[in-house]
Amino acid sequence: MARIVMKFGGTSVADIDRIRNVARHVKREVDAGNEVAVVVSAMAGKTNELVSWTREASAMHDAREYDAVVASGEQVTAGLLAICLQGMGVHARSWQGWQIPIRTDNSHGAARIVDIDGSFLIERFGEGQVAVIAGFQGIGPDNRIATLGRGGSDTSAVAIAAAVKADRCDIYTDVDGVYTTDPRVEPKAKRLSKISFEEMLEMASLGAKVLQVRSVELAMVHKVRTFVRSSFTDPNAPGMDDPINPPGTLICDEEEIVEQQVVTGIAFAKDEAQISLRRVADRPGVSAAIFGPLAEERINVDMIVQNVSEDGTKTDMTFTVPSGDLEKAVKALEKVKGEVGCDAVQSESGLAKISVIGIGMRSHAGVAATAFRALAEKGINIRAITTSEIKISILIDGPYAELAVRTLHGVYGLDK
Ligand code: ADP
Ligand code: ASP
Ligand code: MG
Repeated sequence: MARIVMKFGGTSVADIDRIRNVARHVKREVDAGNEVAVVVSAMAGKTNELVSWTREASAMHDAREYDAVVASGEQVTAGLLAICLQGMGVHARSWQGWQIPIRTDNSHGAARIVDIDGSFLIERFGEGQVAVIAGFQGIGPDNRIATLGRGGSDTSAVAIAAAVKADRCDIYTDVDGVYTTDPRVEPKAKRLSKISFEEMLEMASLGAKVLQVRSVELAMVHKVRTFVRSSFTDPNAPGMDDPINPPGTLICDEEEIVEQQVVTGIAFAKDEAQISLRRVADRPGVSAAIFGPLAEERINVDMIVQNVSEDGTKTDMTFTVPSGDLEKAVKALEKVKGEVGCDAVQSESGLAKISVIGIGMRSHAGVAATAFRALAEKGINIRAITTSEIKISILIDGPYAELAVRTLHGVYGLDK
């Protein structure tokens, strides 16, 4: 017997037929004698619709009311799945975040889970009940519903798995695992049987939305055995009930990965914007004056490049922000223009960041040079570069994103 948390994403619960199919996956694990808790997302497209309604109601709305609206999608799915399970003779009950409770901080719209007392769910296991939990939501210190940011049901699932000390957290989605890159962009992408926590963290934070970043962090810290697998596979296909190696991708410690590749995957993020401050004074305190106000506005600044002007007294400062934050960022910077003594604030949106990821890079030279050469051969211009021990990120013009992903995927042999 094992204790398992099963999470089903939006496309997996897109309509009643699919919810019934999900119920079959759950029933399989219950019938095998496991203790099961389930986390569900809103039906595909529902959260987008709810978000658009809040914007339509008012562009500048209260984040607490945003949460009251957008958390409702998961509530519907949890109830529907409990109904389907009951119809199959499985003892099931739906629960919302506040009932567990899943406690969060006060950052409405992007809240972080601060605590889950596992005892409530452990009691449900004791009663032989399958708890079907609404993902993406918890309750804040203000006693109001708080949501965890887009894609947050992954985080709900891993956090719950950690709280109840589950043997496994299975993230069911519309692909059968984590691939070397998004299979929608590169059909030659290959499924990885395992990927290390560190690499998955980079993949997720650099654009692969197959898992929410925070869920990977939690899995890494709490050592939750997390699998990414498909809900579209026949629930009773051979091997689906394998307790040790279910079909899919295991996110695990790097020690568990026997065959290390130099490059494991390619991630990409579209909708990047670039801001350049021209001829900024080159003196202490200038960076703080530029990036402080952006941090106050909670704008995520990414690649930062600084070049010194010819006479050495001025510098150009270039960096990227998500396109959605560009307007807000430029407004904040216009205010400090005088203080930092710069000539102009220039901006451009519609860029893409392509990242090459692999723990093998720690011990292999020349990975970056290979990328630059391959992109040059395709005539793709590089605007900025950042690197860490296990990744290289390259900023390019948006229309070249797909070509760049496929080129890099091929050049590191990931097609094979
Ligand atoms: P869910 O609704 O189940 O949470 P998501 O849409 O959030 O599903 O995530 C699954 C999607 O992630 C896939 O359909 C795929 O297009 C995309 N994706 C991006 N990068 C990868 C990758 N490296 N491996 C697998 N899927 C990826
Ligand atoms: N329904 C939420 C979203 O679409 C959370 C999730 O699906 O993980 O972002
Ligand atoms: Mg998701």
